[in-house]
Amino acid sequence: MAKISINIATGSLQQAEMIVGIDLGTTNSLVAIIHPESKQPTALKEFDSSSLVPSVVHFDALGNAEVGELAKNYLESDPGNTIFSAKRLMGKSFNDLKSNANFFTYKVIDDDADRLVKVQVGNQFYSPIELSSFILKELKNRAEHILKTPVSKAVITVPAYFNDAQRQATRDAGKLAGLDVLRIVNEPTAASLAYGIGLNKDEEKTIAVYDLGGGTFDISILRIAGGIFEVLSTNGDTYLGGDDLDRALMEFWLNQIGIPFHEIKNDKSALQSLRLLAEEAKKTLSSSNSFEGVWNDNRVTITVDEFNSIITPLVNRTIDSCSKALADAGLSVDQIDAVIMVGGSTRVPLVKSSIGAFFKQTVNDSVNPDEVVALGAAIQADILAGNNKDFLLLDITPLSLGIETMGGLMDVLIPRNAKIPNKAGRQYTTQKDGQGSMRISVFQGERDLVQHNRKLAEFNFTGIPGMPAGMPKVEVSFLINADGILSVTAKELRSGVEQSIEVKPQYGLTDEEVEAMLMDSITHAKEDMVTRALVEARTEGEQILSVTEKFIAKNTSLLTKEELIATASAMQNLQMALTMDDKNLIQTKIEELNEISRPFAERAMDAAVGGALKGKQV
Ligand code: ADP
Ligand code: MG
Repeated sequence: MAKISINIATGSLQQAEMIVGIDLGTTNSLVAIIHPESKQPTALKEFDSSSLVPSVVHFDALGNAEVGELAKNYLESDPGNTIFSAKRLMGKSFNDLKSNANFFTYKVIDDDADRLVKVQVGNQFYSPIELSSFILKELKNRAEHILKTPVSKAVITVPAYFNDAQRQATRDAGKLAGLDVLRIVNEPTAASLAYGIGLNKDEEKTIAVYDLGGGTFDISILRIAGGIFEVLSTNGDTYLGGDDLDRALMEFWLNQIGIPFHEIKNDKSALQSLRLLAEEAKKTLSSSNSFEGVWNDNRVTITVDEFNSIITPLVNRTIDSCSKALADAGLSVDQIDAVIMVGGSTRVPLVKSSIGAFFKQTVNDSVNPDEVVALGAAIQADILAGNNKDFLLLDITPLSLGIETMGGLMDVLIPRNAKIPNKAGRQYTTQKDGQGSMRISVFQGERDLVQHNRKLAEFNFTGIPGMPAGMPKVEVSFLINADGILSVTAKELRSGVEQSIEVKPQYGLTDEEVEAMLMDSITHAKEDMVTRALVEARTEGEQILSVTEKFIAKNTSLLTKEELIATASAMQNLQMALTMDDKNLIQTKIEELNEISRPFAERAMDAAVGGALKGKQV
């Protein structure tokens, strides 16, 4: 394996291996590099094909995953085993997704809790991290195949509004795919770099990045000064995009030929071919004035004017979001120096002209909108590789900082390569009724189990008032000041009890030690993720057993004899599964217990028990 060395002062890597830029999109993903000869950002593609890899994973009967165009063919014919839009699930619990549950045609597990979601395919359970890792792995393979060299380092983009959990999930997905994720970059920041905005230190600009993709719409207002990108505001609609334009067109045609939607709604293949034809028509109309096709022996036609009139309401919704984003940033349109078009759907001429009219300027659309984010990620990767010496990099943390949570897992609060100064916080809760103290252990490193990382400090947070397990809200905050000194504070939010300590994270670590810790994390990524998943499943199983036990003890009278027997047997099965090293078996048994207990739990679940299900436990 290639040797890496990190310059702690600049955070730049000093070696020759290529670092790729990856746009991990909801609909399409792709990988880009700075071309070694032309020095131009370039999207990688196999000869003659598209640079885009559909973000779709299909599992065959044996559980083998295939990704991209091949998988996309199964969207309608095998919906239960074909996972699309996994990005929407990243860092989310079922409760977060509830209002859009109908959107998913595959099985998203509803365990009625605030835990991270899983997807069930056959008897396998996949986390969104694993699903995204299949896509990243495909991109990695593709890059290696085209470049004919191993690729192990990447910059990955995420939407500007992604929270800490979603960013961490994206990092973990990269790790699982065998990639060392050097930095997570905001998509609008990447797009702006691809247009060369922000590459000059002395430049000060305020820009709007309008991103209309396949299923999502984002508008971000950025302020760029001295090489720093600040997100002033974001707005958008996570369920609005090119797919909605396709649907509007499908309805238009069904109307045209006089078939009510309910008559064909169960005919999967007819719907599939209509959807494909609609998408083809939409793309054609981006460069011609009309489209004609045949569907199920019917001639279907549409002109640009007709198309524009059916999509105007959708375009107007994006303009409303733009107004809100401007208002949140406290700006008016004439304070925006540039408007950048991102996402395949911005090829639609009405979109470009309407957005230009709203911002009272010509929009930037010279860079391919499908590729612009990945190209910008490649530019950022090149800066990290130290090839672009003129660009000033901010001070960054050389290794991740986090605390130990249940099962000895490392919970990262400030990831490696984060800007200094920085702050981050997360809420934890107690495990036992009346628990009055909590041990906070601070670690530095990239491995999933704290035992492989370096302990920086530890303190006993005392004085938590007596409450049932799961009730206290202990917020742990990390603050790194401009000198790189970390202070860790724990505060119980209900009572206001607070304690803090100071740590100097870099102290005593040589460049070589940092390097060795990084290499370790890459070598052990796969086994670490497997251990993490197992520890998480076990912790979840143990919690559910203890909650169920308490519940039964309290509510025996509410349950029928049959329910009691069924519950006891499901609990026993789960107990057995917990003794084995099989994450899927544990999850299956958790599901079975949930199935049995859900009806009576719904009948009688009281707030204290519900509370115990919520929140991570230290
Ligand atoms: P995401 O960022 O969500 O992964 P993309 O930026 O790849 O998505 O956008 C995909 C969308 O762009 C699809 O709905 C696709 O139909 C649409 N699209 C691609 N090319 C064109 C075109 N020429 N005209 C109109 N829409 C297009
Ligand atoms: Mg995108």
